Amino acid sequence: MKLISIVVPCYNEEKSVELFYATVKPVLEGIGYIDYEFIYVNDGSKDLTEEKMRELSNREYNVRYISFSRNFGKEAAMLAGIEAARGDAVVLMDVDLQDPPELLPQMVEDWEIGGYDVVYTRRSTRSGEPPLRSWFAKQFYKLINVMSDVHIVDGARDYRLMDRKAVDSFLRLNERNRFAKGLFMWVGYKSKCIEFENVERAVGSTSWSFWKLVHYAIDGIVSFTISPLRWATYFGLFTATSAFVYMFYVIFSKLLFGNPVSGYASIVSIMLFFGGIQLIFLGIIGEYIGRIFIEVKARPNYIIKEHSLNPAQSKEKARKVLVKR
Ligand code: UDP
Ligand code: MG
Repeated sequence: MKLISIVVPCYNEEKSVELFYATVKPVLEGIGYIDYEFIYVNDGSKDLTEEKMRELSNREYNVRYISFSRNFGKEAAMLAGIEAARGDAVVLMDVDLQDPPELLPQMVEDWEIGGYDVVYTRRSTRSGEPPLRSWFAKQFYKLINVMSDVHIVDGARDYRLMDRKAVDSFLRLNERNRFAKGLFMWVGYKSKCIEFENVERAVGSTSWSFWKLVHYAIDGIVSFTISPLRWATYFGLFTATSAFVYMFYVIFSKLLFGNPVSGYASIVSIMLFFGGIQLIFLGIIGEYIGRIFIEVKARPNYIIKEHSLNPAQSKEKARKVLVKR
């Protein structure tokens, strides 16, 4: 039987850890023709998430967990889980049950029988989300798709199933700035998209503030395309050309009509405008240099404080469970 690894990043989710397991396990059992394991990743939670995971993993032989030394962010948590996964396919799921487990049988079928290497999901609606946030999210997807070669579907979730091939390719990308949604698309392979309606969180509240999302968006764009730099070049060429043309106009009008001293307002606004534009483009260059700095330092993406990933230990546990039965 093929093994499926369910990777679950968790940050301050003490109430969801058990609930997630209790909800998803029966669905996986129901599929029948696959084995499964759960890999919980505690992303430096400040509540009892870690204790809950330890408890669960001690009780259930197919649950393993990784616990970070501090909060490293969801991208790092997903990476750690994917690295630890041993399955023939890996599924990424949020622990808050916003990724409907009912889709799992369909995803597994598309993979095992349909021959798809990647089955990803997208929300067809954003109901229950603040309208302003939805609007920004839409603009973000439009922007990133216009600017970069990789096509990211609007509303695409991290919830996806990936065949071992795709997982290994994903793991070969060893950059620090990991914008997983883009990296998964970049990897390619035969993919299928499943749509679903937005589901509200089961318990707890989202840990994404508006600014966190803005940073995420900038990360996404800067780590996937250098087209903002190209824009700077084009814009510079355009203004230099117009300035040149305007210079002739100024010289000739001076020679032909003399110089009635005026134009203070236009000079000041032109100066301020170009001062602002230059700062923006310096900022853009800075974004890229900052990322080069981070890549060059090559620090690890996360630090593991404790884990239960010892395969021998898991086998031991499995045996115990069997003996008990
Ligand atoms: N998460 C994480 N680290 C973080 C923030 C979030 O591992 O720093 C996890 C969180 O526990 C959840 C998933 O990422 O399982 C999605 O987070 P959330 O529900 O807050 O985001 P939303 O669904 O609002 O996009
Ligand atoms: Mg959520």
